[in-house]
Amino acid sequence: MNTQDTHTPLSRAEITLTRHCALVTCGQTVKRGERIATANAPDLGDLHSPLNGTVAHVDPYRIRIDAGGDQTEVPPVELDGLTGPDLHARLRELGADLPPVGEFDTLIINGADCEPDVFARQHLMTTSQSTLEHGLAATIALYTPKRTVLAVLKGTSKTLIGTELVQVSEQYPSALDPMVAFKVTGREAADDALVIGLETLFQVGRIMESGLPALETVVTVGRVNRLVSVGTPVGQLLADAGEQPASGDRIVLGGILRGVAAASPAQGVARNTSAVTVISNPAPVAQDAPCVGCGECVRRCPARIDPAMITSYAEFGMYDKAQAEHVGACFECGLCGFFCIARRPMLQYIRLAKNELARAKAQTGEDN
Ligand code: SF4
Ligand code: SF4
Repeated sequence: MNTQDTHTPLSRAEITLTRHCALVTCGQTVKRGERIATANAPDLGDLHSPLNGTVAHVDPYRIRIDAGGDQTEVPPVELDGLTGPDLHARLRELGADLPPVGEFDTLIINGADCEPDVFARQHLMTTSQSTLEHGLAATIALYTPKRTVLAVLKGTSKTLIGTELVQVSEQYPSALDPMVAFKVTGREAADDALVIGLETLFQVGRIMESGLPALETVVTVGRVNRLVSVGTPVGQLLADAGEQPASGDRIVLGGILRGVAAASPAQGVARNTSAVTVISNPAPVAQDAPCVGCGECVRRCPARIDPAMITSYAEFGMYDKAQAEHVGACFECGLCGFFCIARRPMLQYIRLAKNELARAKAQTGEDN
């Protein structure tokens, strides 16, 4: 694994909206660090422009910004003296993807890279100890846990002061949040335990140190880790790494098992993007083929649910039935899709069902 902390000069950025609402319109000028979208999910932070420029495109899925114009940036925000819900609200406003504050006995920081060939968390542990410790102090102050655990892959010697170290196996999917929670608490979904990814700690630390929004993230491209601006086009990252995807290759934001295919090389990395991966043309493509009932996905599922049944319900929009089959317990490990002999888009169906259920729940909440 190599490391390279460079800021790619951006001529254009594309910010992906997942559960965010755009605050800007086409033609508007924005400053680096200006808030451009608000989060409408309880565990997401707001989004900010990574460059000075002009908004070139806005739709429900993305905001594209072309560089140019005035080079002044937004001023830092004063965070000293803020505590509890006020600090939590301000951190989310500045881009920290922090879950709601609640009663948690155990705070688990997941510092273990989850997928093969992804090393972003390892890179942060090696290069950003001081920022991570700032982030940890603020996070502990927010959630006031009785116990704070840092999960790392076996053989990792780095730790964070004030945490109890737990080592997890490198074997996939041992480092996924629910598996780590099980290792620490004996339960995969414990109400009194909160799992936060190391990159969120990094975001919080950067915000606390600077008073500025979280505009950067670490991604593994090839075997090189890079600190890049959120919104950097994946095509640009691959070109900088000397990788030229061939016709028919797919560019994936994330690792090979859990990543999401980029809509185009212009799509920008998100704050939670851990890697940019190219899947070469000969790999079998997922397709809307019918399930042949082989049962392989059920055998492979670490969450002990029925992926075949859940995805069949999701395929036909029967999300309440997918919920009754415990789609919410899915870890999104991707193993069912990886082993599906019919090449069904299992993880895509599962994410669709989860999103639709979350959307329906939010609407019901709004209606009440
Ligand atoms: S992605 Fe598939 S295999 Fe993994 S937990 Fe979810 S249903 Fe099970
Ligand atoms: S692995 Fe694929 S084909 Fe086999 S039961 Fe599961 S969904 Fe059906």
